[in-house]
Amino acid sequence: MTTTHHTKMLTQLKGKPGKMAKYNKYNKPRDRKHGRELKKCRRCGRNAAPNAMYGLKYCRQCLREVAQKIGFKKYN
Ligand SMILES: [Zn+2]
Repeated sequence: MTTTHHTKMLTQLKGKPGKMAKYNKYNKPRDRKHGRELKKCRRCGRNAAPNAMYGLKYCRQCLREVAQKIGFKKYN
């Protein structure tokens, strides 16, 4: 069975502890150490092109909105 997100399966298997253990053993997605999945915007969760500038981990859209609150100044 395929699902869009693995937590969806966990709600279905709540009443079936045996099957739940089996699911966790064989089908649970692995914890990633590197790759695109880890590079997410911390504000909106967008994983396309997060801006890692200064280690802020905002995407470009969020950085644009948040920049002045953080302390960036805009010079013309
Ligand atoms: Zn964002």
